[in-house]
Amino acid sequence: STVPSAAVRAAATLAKTQPAAFDTRAVQQRDSAHYLHPFTDHKSLGERGARVIVRGDGVHIWDSEGKQIIDAMSGLWCVNVGYGRTSISEAVYKQMETLPFYNSFFNTTNLPAVELATKLVSLAPAGFNHVFFTGSGSEANDTNVRMVRRYWDLMGYKDRHTIISRHNAYHGSTVAGASLSGMEGMHAQGGLPIPGIVHIGQPNYVASGRGMSEDAFGLEAASWLEKKILEVGPDKVAAFIGEPVQGAGGVIIPPATYWPEIQRICDMYGVLLIADEVICGFGRLGKWFASERFGMRPDLITFAKGVTSGYVPLGGVMVGERVANVLIEKGGDFNHGFTYSGHPVACAAALENIRIIEQEQLVEKVGGASGAYLAERFASLRDHPLVGHADSCGFVAGLNLVKNKADAVHDCELFDPELGVGMVCRSFMFANGVIMRAVGERMIIAPPLVMNHTQINDMISLIRRSLDDTLQELQ
Ligand code: PLP
Repeated sequence: STVPSAAVRAAATLAKTQPAAFDTRAVQQRDSAHYLHPFTDHKSLGERGARVIVRGDGVHIWDSEGKQIIDAMSGLWCVNVGYGRTSISEAVYKQMETLPFYNSFFNTTNLPAVELATKLVSLAPAGFNHVFFTGSGSEANDTNVRMVRRYWDLMGYKDRHTIISRHNAYHGSTVAGASLSGMEGMHAQGGLPIPGIVHIGQPNYVASGRGMSEDAFGLEAASWLEKKILEVGPDKVAAFIGEPVQGAGGVIIPPATYWPEIQRICDMYGVLLIADEVICGFGRLGKWFASERFGMRPDLITFAKGVTSGYVPLGGVMVGERVANVLIEKGGDFNHGFTYSGHPVACAAALENIRIIEQEQLVEKVGGASGAYLAERFASLRDHPLVGHADSCGFVAGLNLVKNKADAVHDCELFDPELGVGMVCRSFMFANGVIMRAVGERMIIAPPLVMNHTQINDMISLIRRSLDDTLQELQ
């Protein structure tokens, strides 16, 4: 059969409503004995025990103790359509029964990959007619590195290999991805970045814009790109990569002047522009592709996460005409690809996920009423004594915890980072039933795009309560 039998579906429903009873402590012990987690201090994990998340539905997740939590981070910025979508499970099941795997190497293809590529091209900005599939965002950015260098080689500029990125950017965890990232903690481990990847400052107005208007700061931050191009040598720079809104760096929303000026500089020097939309794409900023919101005209767009809402791993690169034409017309074999490039099951999940986003008009909602409501309710937290600054863009938002508030954001007195106030606040959030991430003293959210007004209100109340608890703890 090509659809789940009634018995399979009934068993799945039962498992959802009555998860098998188990001993959480025993699971935690096996976890710390055998499972090395990503971005985790393993020793502290052994002492505290990991949270065991067992189930999700809509905007909620449940842990093994039965605690219900609003997942204001959409897992890792990815569960855009929310948890528990049986139509995605059914699409995956059906595809697994029909063709669980076939590769796209050596002149073969499969139906879901073709259909998804066609769909993505129809959703992308004008000038994007091709897609390269990968298994993750990191692999997609590795693909970008290889693709832009190959492009310049084919154009006859074999020295144009340097890629410029930004401090505090996040572009993944592979060797190239972590090198493109601008995270000090990552670069400190294993001799990164690799040669040919350099960084400029981030457009973080709160951290660096003292004494300037936001617009003036946006132009100043963009000018750092031109300085770097001139320092490296324009004939050596292949591309500039940036997240339209920096996500993992702490939801850094750039001034409105930033991206148009970056675009102008890239155009002036012929530098390729890569928009890393792994977080920002698929409706999170109220557009299918966030570049459109910021006046960017990228040559390549990285995507992952929201393309399948995280149900199955999938990433890729939208390849614009400038690069695609050269690769296709002059390139011959592009010696690059992954076993799981164009994985039929992942592509089937993506197609159903995109169908849901379209049917429920989630892009329009985030760009319209839901996004406006979240912005207004999140901004209401500004009156809290701990909140020095709060801003949002579509369905990402962040607030800065400060020791003493001031009218101007640059006059707020900051906490000593050693105190770890962000982490204290995050623990209260979890205890109160909401997941919010701490990046230093910036508390950030990226809720599922399906979050309705009532759920937004619930989330804001839990955040406010957790801010109160944090304040009390500090006194
Ligand atoms: N690029 C951005 C902007 C990201 O936020 C991430 C992950 O958070 C990545 C790339 C890496 O994606 P993945 O973890 O799927 O490799």
